[in-house]
Amino acid sequence: MRQKLIAGNWKMYKTIPEALQLVKQLRTKMEKNPPAKTKVVVCPPFTALAAVSETLKSSAIGVGAQNIFWEDEGAYTGEVSAKMIKNAGAKYVIIGHSERRRYFKEDSQVINKKIKTALAHKLHVIHCVGETLEEREQELTRDIVLNQVEWDLKNLAVADLKNLTIAYEPVWAIGTGRNATPEQAQEVHSFLREILDALFQPGVGKKMTILYGGSVKPENAAALLSQPDVDGALVGGACLEAGSFWKIIQASEKAG
Ligand code: PEP
Repeated sequence: MRQKLIAGNWKMYKTIPEALQLVKQLRTKMEKNPPAKTKVVVCPPFTALAAVSETLKSSAIGVGAQNIFWEDEGAYTGEVSAKMIKNAGAKYVIIGHSERRRYFKEDSQVINKKIKTALAHKLHVIHCVGETLEEREQELTRDIVLNQVEWDLKNLAVADLKNLTIAYEPVWAIGTGRNATPEQAQEVHSFLREILDALFQPGVGKKMTILYGGSVKPENAAALLSQPDVDGALVGGACLEAGSFWKIIQASEKAG
């Protein structure tokens, strides 16, 4: 059985007091009604990582960061290392988010280095892939995700995949309110499993947790999460409020 996972990417939102308010509300909901099958992870900004981790120490909610640099320390102004986020309590890290690719020009070479560093530090990687609208319209979705998986995960071993979750996030669906249809998500997720089989080892694809991300909301979560190859969601906007994030967690619990 694949692990179901609902992860919240807070992006550049929430001061420390706001972050603590949100996770305390979420923790209360989780304690009243603990999810039986769904792992829940929150990824606050770096500034709130330590405080959030401390608050969630004895809870079932995991904590992740949204990025790392590939060196452990050094003269890299403004960067934060894997060692630092671990020390602040993170066990997960999002790598390759389309906003990092787009605004910070992260390419597969950079993403590959970051993934290897995260894995070397025993962090669980949430690796994002996905095509732009233009690429989808040109029917390049398969080529794009194949290319991203192949180069971002270059030289990883099959054993590394245990600590890696892929998030299929079509760029045109992120923060736009326009989600992929459940069928579109299913098609790419199933293709991602084929890619993993071909690149790593036959059979490995069906063991991997693959998330969908892109305008997941309480209203569309059930349909997306009921697809056979959709194991969970990476949620942006709707994770910033405990009530809507909780509804998505409940949709995961009810799905398949
Ligand atoms: C994201 O940032 O990974 C994301 C999917 O955002 P949203 O849910 O707001 O589209």
